[in-house]
Amino acid sequence: MPQLRLNPSNFCCTFVAVLFVSFFLSATCAFRFPRRTSALLRHRTYAATSAFHPTSTNVHLPASTAIVGGGPTGLFTALMLARRGYQNITVYDRLPRPDDPSSPTWGNPYRSYNLGLGARGQIALRAADAWESIEPFCAQAIGRKDWTPEQGERPEQIYTDREYKTQVIQRDRIASCLLGELERKHGNQVSVWHSVECVGLTWLDEATPGPEASPSSAEIGKKGVRLRLHRQCEGQELEQWTTEARWVVGADGVRSALRSALEVKTGPGGHQGQTQKERVRTIKLPERNEFVYKILPLDLRPKYGTGPGWRPDLNYSARSKGEVTIEALPTREGIYVGVVLFRPDSSAMAKIQSKEDAREFFAGSFPQFLDVIREEDLARFSTGPTFRLPSFSYCGPSIFYRDNTLLLGDCIHSVKPYFGLGLNSALEDVMALDKCLSESEDDVSKALPLFSSRTAPQAKALVEFQASFDYNANTLEGFLRFVLPLILDGIFHRYFPAFFAPNGIRLLQDHRSTFRQTRRRKQRDRIGQAVILGVLLTGIGKGLGWAVKVAARMLLKG
Ligand SMILES: Cc1cc2nc3c(=O)[nH]c(=O)nc-3n(C[C@H](O)[C@H](O)[C@H](O)COP(=O)(O)OP(=O)(O)OC[C@H]3O[C@@H](n4cnc5c(N)ncnc54)[C@H](O)[C@@H]3O)c2cc1C
Repeated sequence: MPQLRLNPSNFCCTFVAVLFVSFFLSATCAFRFPRRTSALLRHRTYAATSAFHPTSTNVHLPASTAIVGGGPTGLFTALMLARRGYQNITVYDRLPRPDDPSSPTWGNPYRSYNLGLGARGQIALRAADAWESIEPFCAQAIGRKDWTPEQGERPEQIYTDREYKTQVIQRDRIASCLLGELERKHGNQVSVWHSVECVGLTWLDEATPGPEASPSSAEIGKKGVRLRLHRQCEGQELEQWTTEARWVVGADGVRSALRSALEVKTGPGGHQGQTQKERVRTIKLPERNEFVYKILPLDLRPKYGTGPGWRPDLNYSARSKGEVTIEALPTREGIYVGVVLFRPDSSAMAKIQSKEDAREFFAGSFPQFLDVIREEDLARFSTGPTFRLPSFSYCGPSIFYRDNTLLLGDCIHSVKPYFGLGLNSALEDVMALDKCLSESEDDVSKALPLFSSRTAPQAKALVEFQASFDYNANTLEGFLRFVLPLILDGIFHRYFPAFFAPNGIRLLQDHRSTFRQTRRRKQRDRIGQAVILGVLLTGIGKGLGWAVKVAARMLLKG
C-alpha cells in the first residue's frame, strides 16, 4: 500500500484514492501481528483445501432446497449443498441466463462491471474445487499505477508480497462459471431457472393448501415454504405458479424480497412469539459521502510496450484536481473497464453533454488516457447512465426464520466496493454455512440458528467498520474520523509494529482475521494510542508548566 500523502486542500480526492488503493486489491497483506486463533476465527476461515463434503450420516438431508437469487452467492450455495449430497436444489433468478464464460460477448466492457477476487474469495472457490473453472476467465492485477494532482505520474508498484494475487472477473461472468460448474458436475441434483422472479413467500404451517402440490410435498409436510413465482420474458409476464421446498435460502441481493418478507414476519404484528433477538431487520447506515459512477472502457492494448508502466496486469488509478477519480481494471480480453467516480452534484460531469464535451474533459483532467478512449466510448460516456454505489446496510440481529428460511450474501451485508469485500465476504458466508451444516449433521433446524449467531455479528462488523472510513475528508469530522486515525496508525505501526497493527483499510484485507476481530483489534489500538498520546501530552504539558515557572522565577529574581 502506498504511503498516504495528505494535501489539506484536496482531502476528498485523497480519501477516494486511499480507499481505492484497496479497491479490487483484496489480496493478503504481508504484515503479521501476534494473536490467538479464536473459536470464532476457526468458524469463519478455512484452509485452502477442498471442502463441502457430505456428513457421514446424511440422515437429516432436507428433501428439497429452493435458492432465490442466482447471482454468485446463490450459485455458490447451490454448489456447496450439491457437494454435500443434497438433492432437489432449485435456484431461481429473475435475470436471463448469462452467456457462456468463453463467449466473445465478454469482450464488451459494458456487459458487466468487474470485481476483484482476493484471498477470501479465492480460498472459498478453491475449497469447492471451482477455481479451475473460473481462473481461466480472470485477468490478474499484480500491482497498480497512480496519477495524483499532487505528485503527477507515480511509478508502477508491483506487489511481490501477496500470497494471493487479485483476480479480476466480470460479476456476471463468475455467475456463468459457477452455473457451468453446477451443470457439469451436479446436473442431476441442481436445476437453475432464469427469468423467474420470486414474488411471494408463505410458510406451509400457516398457509392454506396450495393449488398444486410439489413432488416432494409429502416429505416436506408442514415444515417447508411455498414460493410464488413469475416467469418473465422481455418484461412481459408469461406465467405464474407456486412451488414448495423444505427450506429456502435468500441470496437475492441488496433489495432482497425474502428479507422484506422476513422483516414483516418477525416484526411487530408478525408471527407471534418472536423475541427481539429473533427479529430480522435491515439497518441502513446514513449516507455521509456519496459518489456515483459511470463506466468508461480504456483500450490500453496499443500502449503496451510503448513506454514504462503500460501493461495488461495493473490497476490504473488517476485523480483529477476536481473530485473525479478513474479506477480501471483489466479484463481477460485485454480491454480495461474504467469506473469514473464523481459526486452526484459534480459540475464538471454535468457539463458533459456531447462527445466533444467528454473529449475536452478528459483532455483537461486525464490527458494520459485520452488516446486510449475510443471515439464511440466518448460518445457513450456523455449520454450513458450514471450508477449509484450500493450504500452501507446490514441485516440482524437474526438472519433466519424458524427452521426453513435463511439469508446470506449481499442481502445481509451491503457495502460500497472501495475495499473489494462484497462478494469475497459473501463467498465466506457460504463456507460458514457449510461448517454449520457439518456441525449439525445437516439438520437445518440446528444449522440455521448456529449460522445466524455466527454470521450476523460478522455482517454487522463488516459493514460498520467499512462505513467508519466513509467520511467526506473535506470536513472537520472527516478529518478527525478518517484522516487523523490513518495518520496515527501509520506512525504507531511504523515505530511499534509489535503492538500496533497497520491501518484498518489494510487490516480488512487480511483473510486470517474475521471482521469482528479486525474491528476489535483497531479499537484496542485506538485505546493504546489514546493512552500513549495522553501520557505524552500530559508530560509535555507538565514540562512546559515547569519551564514557565522556572523562567518566571528567573525573571522575577533578575
Ligand atoms: C461497481 C462495483 C464493484 C464491485 N467490486 C467488487 C469487488 O472488487 N470485490 C467484491 O468482492 N465485491 C465487489 N462488488 C460487490 C459484489 O458485486 C457483490 O457483493 C456480489 O455481486 C454479491 O453477490 P450476491 O449473489 O449476493 O448478490 P447479487 O450479485 O446482487 O445477486 C443477486 C441475484 O438475485 C437475483 N434476484 C433478486 N431478487 C430476486 C427475486 N425476487 N427473484 C429471483 N431472483 C432475484 C438478481 O437477479 C441477482 O442475480 C462490487 C459491486 C459493484 C456495484
